[in-house]
Amino acid sequence: MPPERYKPKTFEVLVTEVIQETPDTVTLVLDAPTIPPYRAGQFLTIDPHLFPVIAGQVAYVEHLKGGKKELVRAYSMASAPHEPLAITIKEEPYRSGDLHAPLLSPLLVYGIPVGTRFPVVGFTGPYTLPPDIEQRTDHVVHLVAGSGVVPNYSIVKDALRNHPKLRHTFIDTNKTWSDIIFREGLARLASEYPDRFRLVHTLTRHVDISGLPPGVRQGRVVPELLREFVPDSGTAFAYLCGPAIAAWDRKKALQEGTAPTPRFLESTIANLQAVGFTPARIKREAYG
Ligand SMILES: Cc1cc2nc3c(=O)[nH]c(=O)nc-3n(C[C@H](O)[C@H](O)[C@H](O)COP(=O)(O)OP(=O)(O)OC[C@H]3O[C@@H](n4cnc5c(N)ncnc54)[C@H](O)[C@@H]3O)c2cc1C
Repeated sequence: MPPERYKPKTFEVLVTEVIQETPDTVTLVLDAPTIPPYRAGQFLTIDPHLFPVIAGQVAYVEHLKGGKKELVRAYSMASAPHEPLAITIKEEPYRSGDLHAPLLSPLLVYGIPVGTRFPVVGFTGPYTLPPDIEQRTDHVVHLVAGSGVVPNYSIVKDALRNHPKLRHTFIDTNKTWSDIIFREGLARLASEYPDRFRLVHTLTRHVDISGLPPGVRQGRVVPELLREFVPDSGTAFAYLCGPAIAAWDRKKALQEGTAPTPRFLESTIANLQAVGFTPARIKREAYG
């Protein structure tokens, strides 16, 4: 298993397949002559300056930000290390009041055909299971929202194969049924590993869930839901990934003298602690 941290390498990838996961999300399957090793849950980065089609927008955003160079964007691996390399990108929407329209994700979702080549830098990131996880717990609880499902999908596929003593509860929050990324892949895992993989979809804006499969819930991840599915909150480990308060949200709130509004990550951590998870058993990845 490669270490959590080593100097990431730059290598060129070729897009061999584009899989439409939901209307605003695609998986890019990537190939390269040599792919460095990675651990499930890690990410690679892509530099928005690489693509001439958005060069003008990048320059304009840099102008808006006082000449500060735009940073690379991180994308978690959707693949487990035993599978073909793949990343999954959800288009970030423009919200009224945002400083600028999102730069890279619309291009990756709608503008990258099979055969495209571009360099990436990988791999890195501490959002991984420790090698001795089976000595620490027998239950990993995955709490994900939107594209936050990506690294946990990699982690769970890897763990089901390589950590036979672990069982998983996978609580996936989305707005509606059609927003669920990897819906079929997750259902397949649930039927392949009925004793070790429990899947819960919870939908925050789906008005009528009566036609959906049993087990689908409405609403957010509240303490009651956690108590129902995680009675062993004193020994389970939680892996959370999803939207979090961004640096600029904090800055804006500070300027206005208010507290930033908690997003998925902050409110779920508070709820995990309310039902008995200690901070040492909560691992998080923020997509802020
Ligand atoms: C470790 C990690 C892994 C990730 N993995 C994935 C993944 O697997 N899949 C995925 O889809 N996404 C993932 N992301 C998110 C991804 O890196 C990008 O943030 C996302 O794709 C949006 O990028 P963008 O260029 O489209 O939008 P951006 O151009 O970054 O804009 C996004 C929003 O931020 C606002 N904004 C940006 N800078 C400022 C500022 N200075 N002040 C005010 N507002 C600002 C913009 O107005 C816009 O609304 C991950 C993030 C991290 C940190």
